[in-house]
Amino acid sequence: MRNPRKMAIIGAGIAGLSAGIYAQTHGFSTTIFEKNRFVGGSLHGWTANGVALEGSLRLLVGTKEGSPLFRCWQEVGALGGTMIFSPECFFAATEGGHTAVLWQDLDRFAASCEALAPEDGAQIQKFCGWVRTLQGFSPRVEKPADLCGPLERRRSEHAGEAGRLLAKLNLVPLAAWAEGLHMPALRRAFVEAVPPGASLGELVLQYAYFTGGDSGLPMGGARPLVQRMAQRYLEVGGDLQLSTPVEEILISNGTARGLQLQEGRRVLANWVLAACDPFYVSRALLKSAYNVDRRLQARWDAPAQYPPVCTTRLLFWADGDALPPYYTFSFPTTVVPAAGGGVDRLRLTQYGEDPTFVRGGRELIAVDVPTRGREAYAYWETLALQGEPYLRERRRLTESVADALVRCFPQLSGSLEAVACHTPLTYADRTNAHMGLLGFVRAAGAKTAAPAGRVPSVGRLLLASTWCGETVGAHTALLQGKFAVERACDEERIDF
Ligand SMILES: Cc1cc2nc3c(=O)[nH]c(=O)nc-3n(C[C@H](O)[C@H](O)[C@H](O)COP(=O)(O)OP(=O)(O)OC[C@H]3O[C@@H](n4cnc5c(N)ncnc54)[C@H](O)[C@@H]3O)c2cc1C
Repeated sequence: MRNPRKMAIIGAGIAGLSAGIYAQTHGFSTTIFEKNRFVGGSLHGWTANGVALEGSLRLLVGTKEGSPLFRCWQEVGALGGTMIFSPECFFAATEGGHTAVLWQDLDRFAASCEALAPEDGAQIQKFCGWVRTLQGFSPRVEKPADLCGPLERRRSEHAGEAGRLLAKLNLVPLAAWAEGLHMPALRRAFVEAVPPGASLGELVLQYAYFTGGDSGLPMGGARPLVQRMAQRYLEVGGDLQLSTPVEEILISNGTARGLQLQEGRRVLANWVLAACDPFYVSRALLKSAYNVDRRLQARWDAPAQYPPVCTTRLLFWADGDALPPYYTFSFPTTVVPAAGGGVDRLRLTQYGEDPTFVRGGRELIAVDVPTRGREAYAYWETLALQGEPYLRERRRLTESVADALVRCFPQLSGSLEAVACHTPLTYADRTNAHMGLLGFVRAAGAKTAAPAGRVPSVGRLLLASTWCGETVGAHTALLQGKFAVERACDEERIDF
């Protein structure tokens, strides 16, 4: 193409890199402006004292060779020939002295439930049947719904047995469904395996990806994954400008014309693609002068329908042999101070199967403290405004979690070393995520129509973010980056 259209992309997270790669390979000349000095956004590997840590990724969806999402990850160079670690279990929960495990092998899961709670057998059999059916489900990857004709839309995701089943399960509140189980540990395992407030459909789908082999952890974690994407972006001719925060999106006559950078430079472009939190875009980069799409706004305004996902995460080096043999599990523990109140359960993920995260015989573990979205952010923000109290509270939380861990697993004593404590404020600082939220899940019955990834009254401005997609997760960011470019191609009459 002789005169490629210029596209300015804000953010080099998964969505921005994905958009950059697809745009470069479809005739656009792009520059990504990233405020941090590294790529990856919330998926960038974290470090402490110069040592690589896995601070975000637990399971990546789209790791099964040949699956539609896997093909997209391959197109953006994310996976290369990387080995994928498939944990033996999706999630385990301990309650009342019993542990219920959602094993990778569905037959093993059914048999273990039968042994643990025969009275729940019928409900478990039904659940396993749903999981098997949804192993055949794929989210829409070809193009976004707004670019599909009615026939295409009908043929895609809500068609077929798996799509129809998912639509049905999305109407059922997970917590209410789990109440029907007799065994408390099983109830816990179902409810805590996915973010609070999710529908039954969310759990069945995530477990189906996992048992069907389409979710796992790429060896090396998030850092090499995003670096491979950045490498692919540069190979296809992209221009990546790190440590370059954008201050404002320039609009004239209802059309995006370019960017004002914090350093003072103005950059003109035919298209602007904001691959960061859309509420931050609306408030900060558009100076609250333009509203986002109604459907997108609803995801923020109606937390009961779209429960926000939020965490406070602590990282430790620990002796893995002192812990139960489950990749991720939750357990009861003494109350630890968290956002002013207390919690009585923690959730722990062990990264020891990947040698990248093993040091001197100890492995990296991540401990999530249940955190209530906006309230938690407000709490930590108030402390941060006072300076020292924020640091003090993080130390207090770290000590309290460490004590709780040693009380539950006494053999950890002596081997536990705290390396990081990430609060919602950490995530907000790192990526400009509004209130440090990671995204949302769908509650039962939440409307399914996806936003069109645009700001209605501004032309040539595209949004790419998990908030515009179906649910939280890096695969959603990948697809939203791709979809945004397809929208630009559609308007420019470029074949995608
Ligand atoms: C603790 C944690 C655990 C997670 N676990 C998983 C998991 O197990 N599996 C999974 O699939 N997903 C997981 N996720 C979610 C996943 O990381 C995100 O969904 C995904 O990375 C979002 O990518 P994104 O590109 O949409 O946004 P982001 O990663 O937020 O990227 C936005 C980018 O825009 C940049 N930016 C923002 N404002 C500006 C500005 N003004 N100028 C320039 N640049 C700007 C930011 O610095 C950032 O790099 C987790 C996230 C976290 C935080």
